[in-house]
Amino acid sequence: MNPSHAPDIPTVYLDHSATTPTHPDVVRAMLPYFTEHFGNPSSLYSISDAARAAIATARTQVAAALGCSADEIFFTAGGTESDNWAIRGMTSARKKEGNHIVTSSIEHHAVLHTCGYLETQGFSVTHLPVDRYGLVDPAQVEAAITPETTLISVMMANNEVGTIQPVQEIGAVARDHGICFHTDAVQAVGHMAIDVDAMKIDLLSLSGHKFFGPKGTGALYIRDGILPDNLIHGGGQEKGRRAGTENVPGIVGLGAAIARVTIDIPGHRERVGALRDMLVQGISGRIPDSHYNGHPDKRLVNNAHFSFPGLDGEALLLMLNRKGICASIGSACSSGCEDMSHVLRAMGVPPSYGRSSLRLTLGDDNTKEEIEYVLDVLPPLIARLREMAAF
Ligand SMILES: *Cc1c(COP(=O)(O)O)cnc(C)c1O
Repeated sequence: MNPSHAPDIPTVYLDHSATTPTHPDVVRAMLPYFTEHFGNPSSLYSISDAARAAIATARTQVAAALGCSADEIFFTAGGTESDNWAIRGMTSARKKEGNHIVTSSIEHHAVLHTCGYLETQGFSVTHLPVDRYGLVDPAQVEAAITPETTLISVMMANNEVGTIQPVQEIGAVARDHGICFHTDAVQAVGHMAIDVDAMKIDLLSLSGHKFFGPKGTGALYIRDGILPDNLIHGGGQEKGRRAGTENVPGIVGLGAAIARVTIDIPGHRERVGALRDMLVQGISGRIPDSHYNGHPDKRLVNNAHFSFPGLDGEALLLMLNRKGICASIGSACSSGCEDMSHVLRAMGVPPSYGRSSLRLTLGDDNTKEEIEYVLDVLPPLIARLREMAAF
């Protein structure tokens, strides 16, 4: 498939934060809804019953993963749409009360650029700083609130360095001030327990393809009584709040996938955490001048993010690809889009470190042998790239 990737080398996929393969069990659950159960869920004849029932089941599965009621789950076409709906919908609904948004400086582009768009529409946005680990300080969230603030949006876990935010504390600040709290939890699902009540979350975004579900599927949790304006107008689907004939196979897949990854989170954390720790210790021990970015323990259990000053991150990715290893510089879109990731910049990482970064994100499908292979391949590659760069 890839000409620069020798055919006899097996693929080692370490980019699960970019996307994941749809799990075979999830595909199996979806298939009948392309064919025998093809009926439009809005139709009134009985061949649509199965589609309607499957959507209801998926809604229950998503709700169970978040600790909310099924009525509070709305299906979307992915994480980006959920973020857009939450932010544009909420600020629009509360426009009479104010025009100020509080967010962080390390959000995914789906939040960052949505807030940027709203700035062109007369809103003002505070981008909170983070510390060198990528953590937002809840006291700074509180200090940023003005009488005009109508929304606080801070992600649950960062997609580049994996830092997990003190969401519960931020939620408490928002609740105390009567301000709506949205969190982008796209990276968090399956890797940590989520409870929207305990965390005082009003709106939460998630995306199916980040947890072995299908691409183009997502959901927005909307707390009962919170009424963001609609983003997608049309028919009466999703209780009249998100129009368009439902992506029934996709919704079924999303439900099956979230049930699968949340059934044993402690077991997952143990397995994947052991592999990640092996990777991190191996890299730190074998590669001189390697810098582990992000928080040492308030981080996603599957994330390892390093800087290897003295080389170019993109060159490293190309070399890794030739060895069958799929990794990333940081975010899926960092390459080519910007000189250095806005996340690393906000953390105060120097540009020479930022440009030499490598993100390895694991999944349950990785093995100890794969990690050993990476630990064999990586040190000589990095030594060679550093030598070449030194000329
Ligand atoms: C992937 C991702 C998104 C976007 O989700 P899509 O379903 O790909 O649109 C949003 N936020 C974060 C943190 C992500 O990692």
